[in-house]
Amino acid sequence: MSTLPHASALALRRAQIPLPRVTAETRARTGSAVPRGTTRQPAAGRSPEPRAQLAAGPSWHFAKHVSATLDRSADDRVTRRHVRYAQRAVLWRESRLQRVRYCGRITHGGDGGNVVAKVREDVAHFSGLQSCGSIWACPVCSAKIRNGRANEISAAAAAWDLAGGSVVMMTLTFPHDLGMRLASLLPIVADGFRALISGRPWRRVKDQVGVVGTIRSVEVTHGGNGWHPHAHVLIFVTGEISAEGIAQLAVYARARWAKWIMKQGYRVPHDRHGVDIGLCVSAKEAGSYVSKTQDGRSTGNELARGDMKQGRQGSRTPFEVLDDFRWTGDVEDLALWHEYEAATKGHQAITWSKGLRKILGVLQEQTDEELAAEEVGGDDVAVIPAEVWAGVVKIPGLDAALLDVCERSGLSGMNKLLRRHGLGDALPPPG
Ligand SMILES: [Zn+2]
Repeated sequence: MSTLPHASALALRRAQIPLPRVTAETRARTGSAVPRGTTRQPAAGRSPEPRAQLAAGPSWHFAKHVSATLDRSADDRVTRRHVRYAQRAVLWRESRLQRVRYCGRITHGGDGGNVVAKVREDVAHFSGLQSCGSIWACPVCSAKIRNGRANEISAAAAAWDLAGGSVVMMTLTFPHDLGMRLASLLPIVADGFRALISGRPWRRVKDQVGVVGTIRSVEVTHGGNGWHPHAHVLIFVTGEISAEGIAQLAVYARARWAKWIMKQGYRVPHDRHGVDIGLCVSAKEAGSYVSKTQDGRSTGNELARGDMKQGRQGSRTPFEVLDDFRWTGDVEDLALWHEYEAATKGHQAITWSKGLRKILGVLQEQTDEELAAEEVGGDDVAVIPAEVWAGVVKIPGLDAALLDVCERSGLSGMNKLLRRHGLGDALPPPG
């Protein structure tokens, strides 16, 4: 069995039977149906895997990917980087956003289009490449931006805690059904939250409880009932908030939220009226509550994908949807991804209420784009000439693998890897 026709692969997947990974790439090679546009990336001139490997299950996809050389017990950071890079490489072909298709692949033209590999504090990275700066649609940029925002929010929460204040966490959801378009659902959360913190009723509660501001993050998952946009909110309150204070916020938010949801023509949430509320106990928790949760829960245990289908109870983050497409070539997942990409474009993911940054003393120093494009500096290790780089991005996983060997064995290791793939040498940095 060298491959599965697409339809039966899907059927198997639905039945949750472990199946050999069928990628767009293998199907392209064997001539079975592939989604439009997936044939552009060549299979890097490698010969098909031996049959034994194909039958072995989850590992054979990796056998074809450069990250097959990864030590499975490798540092989590290295694994996560491989996964994000591999997801982004899928988007180089499949994204409908040009910036994403260029991210980490096309050089920004400085230094003759060469790419420089640098190492800072034992972590390697490339400089000289374009970055898309998308918190929604790019696995690599999103991780950088969310990490930066989480640190910012944690710092704000820590400072507020030190000043004797409290932070309340609130989640807003509403009932929705399979087939509803994300483009219609997403604004209901964003606009609904805006409505929640405006007008006289809010000002009254705000003054009574001592609220100084909010940070909200809109997130999206996809599950059995289709798209599930929801908001995570941090409410900053002066002094130690009492149980009555939390109750007051809950009563207000539940009434107002339910009214809003009904006004939009949706069912009233019956589970606590769609509002979950509780006290935040640590600054770190505050940061991850609004900024980290969307960042692909499964990335850490990526190499153990085999048991993932059963384990996640039907709800996937968008990056998990993308990753499922990466593994299975399921065109329905690709369609979901495209819908998500289009629906989130232009929406603000994380919003601080007006004046809150000033109150907390955390000014925004960098935009999302700047956070993503930030050159972290470090020592130049190798200069990869533009024409060599053009070959690197054609081989799945080679970019991340080059960073691994750069960290482990510098220029000589990188050149060994480049030669193994029939590419020219990287050069020592000038001077
Ligand atoms: Zn990007």
